[in-house]
Amino acid sequence: MEANTPITSTTFTRSATAPLSKDRCFFCQVDEGQSLFTVRTENAWNELKNAMQITQDPVLMTRLNNAVPPTDAHAIHERYHKLCWTNHVFRVLRDDARNQARPTTADLPMQMAFLIKVINIVDIETQNKAYLPMDVIETTYTSMLGGSDETEKHTPTLTRQWLKDKVLSELPSVTSVRQKNRQKPSVLYCPEACEEDMVNTSMMKDHASEMDNTKMLKKTANLI
Ligand SMILES: [Zn+2]
Repeated sequence: MEANTPITSTTFTRSATAPLSKDRCFFCQVDEGQSLFTVRTENAWNELKNAMQITQDPVLMTRLNNAVPPTDAHAIHERYHKLCWTNHVFRVLRDDARNQARPTTADLPMQMAFLIKVINIVDIETQNKAYLPMDVIETTYTSMLGGSDETEKHTPTLTRQWLKDKVLSELPSVTSVRQKNRQKPSVLYCPEACEEDMVNTSMMKDHASEMDNTKMLKKTANLI
């Protein structure tokens, strides 16, 4: 954080080594005549502690630990510049709250962009008579999202069924069929595209359960 950078090396030396001057700002220890405020409430004290936990600034952590003995909560009288409090406490807590809120808000446009990309791939592939197992489509989508950590933030919760419903609702020409082996994921294909080619149609009927997932994945990956 930029605000933690000492203004001069003299300030740094004094801040790091000299004992805290209670008459000066807890954060910067600079006295240029600006008015100081005092940490009076326990709420403000807790905010200060929480902010220090987040930033882990070693100088301020040490200062905080020395400021008030744990048994003496009434002796809180740390002083601060209003701007220093804004930089070191208010902004830190606000940014932390924003970061925690991000998974359900800021990721949605990215998620939507990747979903459209996956739907386009399925469209192109099925128009080219491909049979796409749902697990391959799901893997393609989760790798776009950036792996399992990002997938956990997915809104709504990412399931294969949710993904399949999205694809099918966007692509009316595509149909889902279950494989003979019910343990295996269902397969998406375009009947119209495949009917043009009798060989493909019979392959669909006879060998739908024996598709080469690896080949499919490779093909799909090449399109990304
Ligand atoms: Zn200050």
